[in-house]
Amino acid sequence: MALELRPNCEYCDVDLPPASTAARICSYECTFCADCVETKLHNVCPNCGGGFAPRPIRPANEWRPGACLAKRPPSTKRVRLSRDVAEVEAFVRHVRDVAPQDR
Ligand SMILES: [Zn+2]
Ligand SMILES: [Zn+2]
Repeated sequence: MALELRPNCEYCDVDLPPASTAARICSYECTFCADCVETKLHNVCPNCGGGFAPRPIRPANEWRPGACLAKRPPSTKRVRLSRDVAEVEAFVRHVRDVAPQDR
């Protein structure tokens, strides 16, 4: 298993290429940009209620056989949030003050 490395932010649709340091993922790999996570989602994934971590960068160099961006290319399938903004805002308000370990 490997991360899909999804190509965009589900919320604002900004590009998040594999080398981006602005990509954030939840444990299910819901993918958002750092700006949306901070200012809109308050570290609450709108799909699962979990928190986010920076997405690791897959090596461009093939340091080990088969383990590099060219051999395990990123996903090209753009994912967009299927919920409406008002519903997401209410959900985030409900979950954001729950400590990460208790979510
Ligand atoms: Zn975004
Ligand atoms: Zn999630």
